[in-house]
Amino acid sequence: MNTDRKKLVIAIDGYSSCGKSTIAKDLARVLNYIYIDTGAMYRAVTLYAMRNGMIKDGEIDKEKLINSLNKIKITFRQNPETKQNETYLNGENVEKEIRRMDVSNNVSRVSTIKEVREYLVQLQREMAKKGGVVMDGRDIGTVVLPDADLKIFMTARPEVRAERRYKELKAKGENVSKEEIMRNIQERDRMDTTRKESPLRQAEDAIVLDNSDMTPQQQLDWILNLVNKKR
Ligand code: C5P
Repeated sequence: MNTDRKKLVIAIDGYSSCGKSTIAKDLARVLNYIYIDTGAMYRAVTLYAMRNGMIKDGEIDKEKLINSLNKIKITFRQNPETKQNETYLNGENVEKEIRRMDVSNNVSRVSTIKEVREYLVQLQREMAKKGGVVMDGRDIGTVVLPDADLKIFMTARPEVRAERRYKELKAKGENVSKEEIMRNIQERDRMDTTRKESPLRQAEDAIVLDNSDMTPQQQLDWILNLVNKKR
């Protein structure tokens, strides 16, 4: 392999549960890049707020959370067995916990808070500084890394997305219905696209990937073809 090839910054945005992290992880592995899951960072802040009594019946004590941000340290470490990056909150591995349905039900509300976004965006930019990065989220191509070398905007039909998330949660042993998942996906999309701070939208220079009828390998080949044109 030609090691002189430019180390790119790749931004992947899109709706909830359309397979962004699957493709981002595959891509990072093949290119030997770092993968940064920004959704995991919003989920970790949400988990912290839930554990510390800052969210009651869906209502967030914003002031308390904003004042606690400096106590929230989020890092990623590679699991030597799976070779996957896992999320740590103040030194504790929370990878499993942050994917739970109760966290999913609160995360989009937490991520509307301007100060939470500013705090995490600054961390995300720091992580991407050296290049050779695949970052996925909702505002990566528009706000976090507007100068990214390649921007992908992912989408898939809602029923396909619900089915994928259902299988994923079932495999992890979570007892949820498809209807509940569909409601959660639709509600998160609504909040993510309509919020005031950095709403989810396609960057003007992003390339759309509708993966409803594509396998992970087909998606990977499709993106690698674009990556090779850029390098
Ligand atoms: O990617 P994931 O579905 O894990 O993200 C969880 C939630 O975090 C999203 O529904 C969205 O509300 C929020 N998020 C965000 N900006 C990002 C990444 C995630 O607002 N860059």
